[in-house]
Amino acid sequence: MTKYNIDVTLTQTKKEKPNASELAFGKVFTDHMFIMDYTEGQGWHDPRIIPYQPLTLDPASMIFHYGQSVFEGLKAYVTKKEQVLLFRPDENFKRLNKSNDRLCIPHLDEELALEALKTLIQVDRDWIPNAEGTSLYIRPFIISTEPYLGVSPSDRYQFIIILSPVASYYKEGIAPVRIAVENEFVRSVAGGTGSAKTGGNYAASLKAQQLSGTKGYSQVLWLDGVERKYIEEVGSMNIFFKVDGEVITPSINGSILEGITRKSVIELLKHWGIPVSERKISIAEIKEAYAAGKLEEAFGTGTAAVISPVGELFWQNEGMSINGGKTGEVTKKLYDTLTGIQSGMVEDHFNWCIEVK
Ligand SMILES: *Cc1c(COP(=O)(O)O)cnc(C)c1O
Repeated sequence: MTKYNIDVTLTQTKKEKPNASELAFGKVFTDHMFIMDYTEGQGWHDPRIIPYQPLTLDPASMIFHYGQSVFEGLKAYVTKKEQVLLFRPDENFKRLNKSNDRLCIPHLDEELALEALKTLIQVDRDWIPNAEGTSLYIRPFIISTEPYLGVSPSDRYQFIIILSPVASYYKEGIAPVRIAVENEFVRSVAGGTGSAKTGGNYAASLKAQQLSGTKGYSQVLWLDGVERKYIEEVGSMNIFFKVDGEVITPSINGSILEGITRKSVIELLKHWGIPVSERKISIAEIKEAYAAGKLEEAFGTGTAAVISPVGELFWQNEGMSINGGKTGEVTKKLYDTLTGIQSGMVEDHFNWCIEVK
């Protein structure tokens, strides 16, 4: 029992842990999970850690029909000194509540959510892989569970946290990817749900992703849904360009997801004295910069890959090769610094990491 009365039931049958070399992304889960219920009139109640197990839900549960749900994603690392670090987890729970607002889901107590996460990580501490680049991926999420086919906010929810040991995103070092600009499909529009982390956005993105995959691209570059002119995001990451010495990224506009990696990159660049600005960026502007030899670097940012260099951008029947298809200098420095801070190898001047103890 803790300050928040989180009840803990330990498993009787521990699972076998995967070898570091067998780790993939999000396929293996730890021995326990956190779960808490919401009932209208009663609020959030019964926070508990239980053995990892399937959920039993009524087939009429609203989550299955109208998708009222939100999620988060973050990572825990174990350092050389055997400390367990979380990277800016308070930001994740703040954002979860912002997503809750948009989806008409009742707010969570952010402090309780963090306490729940820390307690769960302590229970499954042995599952955090320690080989270089590996980490424990954390997936907090909320689903609507009222059995009702009417379209309205649910009167019942479950908040759940599951944990998955994951390999480094890059098996053979950070490597640039090929990206195609998406001209037909859009990810979201201002006024829609693009700025919330909710499942429907990802369901809507699959078609474009699948088609670009068949053409040899690993992700799509999303343009704005109104004019199809302005750059929004890359796959499910935020996007940055370095043009003529300045780093630029699309400003938050109601359809872009405000990434915590994005925010950290902006803070790091400012700290280093590298010019950085958030503004509207058209794809035509990027093409012009490329033609003028001024498109120096491009990279995506997000928790899973941290920093993902873009080696080629395809638009209007032409591939723009960025930095000769190699990882740029600033891109590499950001990757090394962020992953270094997250894993305790680089001094955390910003106090971004929280130790789980
Ligand atoms: C989660 C997410 C990001 C990145 O956010 P981080 O907090 O940096 O992980 C960017 N775009 C979309 C669409 C996302 O879902």
